Amino acid sequence: MNTIVGVATPPGRSAIGVIRLSGPNSLMIARALIAEEQFSPEPTHAVLKSIEDPLTHEAIDQTLVTYFKAPHSFTGEDIVEISCHGSPVVLRKIIDLVLGLNARLADPGEFTLRALRNGKMNLSQAEAIRDLINAQTDGAARQALRQLSGELSARLEPIKEELLQIIVILESALEFVEEDLPQIQTQKIKSDLARIAADIRELADTFTTGRLLREGLRVTIAGRPNVGKSSLFNKLLTSDRAIVTEIAGTTRDTLTEAISLKGIPILLTDTAGLREALDPIENLGVERTRRAIADADLLLVVFDGSVDLLQEDLEVLSQARQMRHVVVINKSDLTEGTSERAVNLLGGKSKTKAVSALTGAGIEDLRAAILEPFASIDSEDLGLVVTDSRHYDLLNRVTAELRTSLDLLTGSASEELVLVGLHNGLRFLGEITGETTSDDILARIFSTFCIGK
Ligand code: GDP
Repeated sequence: MNTIVGVATPPGRSAIGVIRLSGPNSLMIARALIAEEQFSPEPTHAVLKSIEDPLTHEAIDQTLVTYFKAPHSFTGEDIVEISCHGSPVVLRKIIDLVLGLNARLADPGEFTLRALRNGKMNLSQAEAIRDLINAQTDGAARQALRQLSGELSARLEPIKEELLQIIVILESALEFVEEDLPQIQTQKIKSDLARIAADIRELADTFTTGRLLREGLRVTIAGRPNVGKSSLFNKLLTSDRAIVTEIAGTTRDTLTEAISLKGIPILLTDTAGLREALDPIENLGVERTRRAIADADLLLVVFDGSVDLLQEDLEVLSQARQMRHVVVINKSDLTEGTSERAVNLLGGKSKTKAVSALTGAGIEDLRAAILEPFASIDSEDLGLVVTDSRHYDLLNRVTAELRTSLDLLTGSASEELVLVGLHNGLRFLGEITGETTSDDILARIFSTFCIGK
């Protein structure tokens, strides 16, 4: 196993920059850099040491060096962490020196991959570290921390155990071919399998919430031209300007910006009109609008409350009613009171808010209404939720396999056939925690980590 090195702190200048080495040569390299052959630090104790170029003896920086002795380290290998002053020049110099001393640059996530390989954590815990680093909301960070503490694997462990027991019973029935499984035992296996499949389904279903926590809410503004969609879009953005970011790949047809409402990331999309267009470019816009509406977690359907409703408005409304939506009656500054007439016409079962994108009246109220259906997702007492689409996909595959086995069992198929699905199911569960994950899948997962982690 070779020794790897990486900068663990973000690029750019900072108060402190941390360089991390992991592998059998770590301590030897540290000795060369601090020009002390006898350097044998007490593990996990930081010591103040000057770093110098081993060839020229040029002083590079005053640093704090901490040694973690294998196996009592993050990776399970010998680790040396050098906390130097956070100058990119200093960091670069030290990295170059380390590279000249029998070490190589770490790949993204390679420290964590080594921790996984050395049994320091399982795959879902390793993924949780990445998710914790990437978390954009309190809720997402809390979930990542739960997963890091092994909650997901602990939840799956008894399920795997139970599945294994069923496999053992069926396998042994195969050994003694002349005896069929007693009816009563088949019944028990069937009900156990159904319960396990339902349990996994329930866990997989939490991904609806998990995805929102991780990626944020997709909120799309729709309505016929001129009702004030763009004005509303800008109004919702302006007060959150500080955290507005440009989203790549947007066109003039649909415009998406990221904002944050009460710590929940929101991807707000303004759409072009929905009317059938004659020229091809506008048609593309209509298509994009349709997609933005179909992909939305919440639709804001905007109407002009100062004029009579048009046929087009009603068409938009009937489409919106098929999804989660809020009716926004705009231009309240032009009508008296709260556009009673429009509310009566449009309200029905829909949640309705009267606003003025011009004056800002009602916008706070609208913000609250946007978050309301999702109020629970950022709360502390949210149970364990699946936040990773890889886990979600695997859980779905387990359910499908178990259902197939259950059907076969009901149809009195041979144990051999029933077992195929059960083995697959067990393998997919193992892929979540990494026991049965192939190397190329691991490589793909770890390529999404940051360097130095
Ligand atoms: P869109 O086509 O739906 O995106 O509508 P725009 O945002 O471009 O607005 C159409 C027109 O309505 C513009 O002239 C806006 O200034 C005006 N407008 C938008 N919101 C309001 C509002 O709340 N009150 C008033 N009085 N005018 C508004």
